[in-house]
Amino acid sequence: MSEAMPVSRALFDEVMVPNYNPSAFIPVKGKGSRVWDQDDREYVDFAGGIAVNCLGHCHPAMVDALTEQGNKIWHLANVMTNEPALRLAKKLTQATFAERVYFANSGAEANEAALKLARRWALEEHGVEKQQIIAFQKGFHGRTFFTVTVGGQAAYSDGFGPKPGAIEHVEYNDLSSLEAVISDQTCAVMIEPLQGEGGVVPGEKEFLAGVRNLCDKHNALLIFDEVQTGFGRTGTLYAYEQSGVTPDILTSAKALGGGFPIGAMLTTSAIAAHLKPGTHGSTYGGNPLACAVSEAVMDVVNTPEVLNGVKQREQMFREKLQAINAKYDVFSEVRGQGLLLGAALNDKFKGKSREFLLASAEHGLMVLIAGADVVRFTPSLVIPQEDIEEGLQRFEKAVAQVVASHG
Ligand SMILES: *Cc1c(COP(=O)(O)O)cnc(C)c1O
Repeated sequence: MSEAMPVSRALFDEVMVPNYNPSAFIPVKGKGSRVWDQDDREYVDFAGGIAVNCLGHCHPAMVDALTEQGNKIWHLANVMTNEPALRLAKKLTQATFAERVYFANSGAEANEAALKLARRWALEEHGVEKQQIIAFQKGFHGRTFFTVTVGGQAAYSDGFGPKPGAIEHVEYNDLSSLEAVISDQTCAVMIEPLQGEGGVVPGEKEFLAGVRNLCDKHNALLIFDEVQTGFGRTGTLYAYEQSGVTPDILTSAKALGGGFPIGAMLTTSAIAAHLKPGTHGSTYGGNPLACAVSEAVMDVVNTPEVLNGVKQREQMFREKLQAINAKYDVFSEVRGQGLLLGAALNDKFKGKSREFLLASAEHGLMVLIAGADVVRFTPSLVIPQEDIEEGLQRFEKAVAQVVASHG
């Protein structure tokens, strides 16, 4: 394929598997929290590649790390000892409850490793009866067959033949519904401390504490899926730090690479010991380019300036979104934590989140949705104040347009 080959949205329909339905405009360049399309139209980016671009686009720390590592060594099989992977693992263990790290290439793969580890741990520590995995309705854990089955939307896992078994779903933020199902045969409970895809729904503090207690009572592992909430997104390196609950296994991806694919599973030495040589693995997991970039991202993100800055930016978003709502009356609430925020549409606009997304794009703004009823914002953690202001002005115009179209 020559470099000059013209690319249009129509080419997607010609050559791609139709499992996505991407935007009409085609972004080709990004700097910080601004993005330009093929026609040099500029957008403010409040989507951040779905909570991935935590330092915006082409942050110098990331470009430098990638360039430097790219001139040294790109790939090492996991039969080799790997400097960037061990450096990153050391920093992750120093910064969290965890003592051991497994590297993957995505959130789904990190979760797949977590679930397999939990099953193996239960088998070896407690015997074959302890298999049950409990997760939550509307939870999202990725698209491999195991993780999508553990996810709480049957529509995503139906239609692919027999599913992995011994998986139960209970209601989020409802401890009694977990209590009714958990037993000594439960091997693990997998949960997002704040449901992202499920509508930006924070886990209540007492609920998360209750989940931890029930896991302890029944000797079940608690797995926090922090693929979306992790790496500074909520104002601490990981959201568990604010929840008052420490999980046994934590998974991370998305912002972990800041835009370079990487995933990680973090756990304790005692639990990790059950993934002995040969039990699990990945060709690209721990790739030196990915780990070098991730370490550079972590050096920037895991600082008081950036983490406190997330809280300040959250305030700016909340205040302006409330002001927009006071004027146009479209949201029932603005919820979430840090820079993982959801504006839930009120009854009048329920089911119309996509209209807000499309109107925003028309006004030069990239936002996300979380289901049909929630407009989601996951901007760069270091987005400049003027970009927040400009983006929210554009969002106000988009809201006005949607409201007018239903006048
Ligand atoms: C995005 C996401 C995943 C899946 O990550 P991939 O990198 O797409 O595999 C898993 N869990 C949560 C909570 C997510 O938000």
